[in-house]
Amino acid sequence: MIAVGRPTWLEIHLAALVDNFRLVQRTVGEGVAIFPVVKANGYGLGAIPIALALQQAGAHGLCLAMAEEAALLQQAGVTLPMALLSSPAPGLEKEVVRQGWQVFLYTLADARRLHTFADPAHPLPVHVKVDTGMGRLGFPLDDLPAVMTELATLPGLKVVGLASHLACADEPQRPVTRLQMEKMESVRQQYAHLPVSLANSAGILAHAASHYQWVRPGIMIYGGSPFHPQGTASDWGIKPVVAWKSRIIQVREMAAGCGVGYGHAFITPTASRIALVTVGYADGYSRCLGNLAQVLIQGRRAPVVGRVSMDSMAVDITQLPHSIQEGEIVTLLGQDGQDAITAEELATWMDTIPYEVFCRLGQRMPKIYLREGT
Ligand SMILES: *Cc1c(COP(=O)(O)O)cnc(C)c1O
Repeated sequence: MIAVGRPTWLEIHLAALVDNFRLVQRTVGEGVAIFPVVKANGYGLGAIPIALALQQAGAHGLCLAMAEEAALLQQAGVTLPMALLSSPAPGLEKEVVRQGWQVFLYTLADARRLHTFADPAHPLPVHVKVDTGMGRLGFPLDDLPAVMTELATLPGLKVVGLASHLACADEPQRPVTRLQMEKMESVRQQYAHLPVSLANSAGILAHAASHYQWVRPGIMIYGGSPFHPQGTASDWGIKPVVAWKSRIIQVREMAAGCGVGYGHAFITPTASRIALVTVGYADGYSRCLGNLAQVLIQGRRAPVVGRVSMDSMAVDITQLPHSIQEGEIVTLLGQDGQDAITAEELATWMDTIPYEVFCRLGQRMPKIYLREGT
């Protein structure tokens, strides 16, 4: 794997990422543009290689949370159109205007601010964000006519679309999504000339009526289920993209009744073999996983025992073959032999969703990008 350095790393399978992108393509069909979301450093997996792989795979554009993220990709040679899901922070307007990045707009104050930096000869493309029921950012539906009227007086901005975001699409049986789609439909009819974007991963997979002109897949591209805990990635044909591995740095033979690690939160019940693994909460392996999670070693499960420390943790390998020694690979996330620890399983242990499992992956770990099939 890596020749030098601390043996804790991420393997990112770009072929699986592209397969997940193809799944989006097959699901939305031709004629629907795909702007994968690579915000938050590509959900923690590294925005630059991911953006370049998606560009090569035929993405029509990319969505980012912030102008800073778009700038990073642009400097790395990504040439796709970029859509910013939030208004650029003060100080970044000039760059956004210069680059012609598309901006999701949800306040008139932002519109006026951006307009002062804009050049009517090359107006800034904006998507008017509507709150169809998310209850977060977006103009209330009733305000839309007045908003459109005001925007028409700002020649530095050009309204290129309407956008909204789904609140409950991850729970397909909830009626909120249908109500949101109905509201979006009424808006679309009022502004029939404008392209619409509504769907995230859950909308793409579970609500064909949410696809409209362009979609914004995030988690499914990265191999996570948008439906957790109701559905796993494999239920939907989403392929795992990331594996997280470390190595045993020491094997301890401990007598019965020994405390292991901080707080002695684990006491060996019998004579035990305890493996120290060089990964901890500073790497994103949450402290709440202590005495709870499992890892894979030689394709077999072993429990994490005691508290997870900042840089290390302990695994009880008493039940595993005695051939397991220092240097052995430990799989925290991903396939090992016949078994796999999925992002959903880690998310369940962490009482969260796969999104957070990925976003918390520590940025100090080397990432290895694998281009061939998994
Ligand atoms: C993050 C985000 C997405 C992607 O959502 P997933 O559930 O990861 O597919 C789409 N649209 C907006 C506005 C977002 O903030």
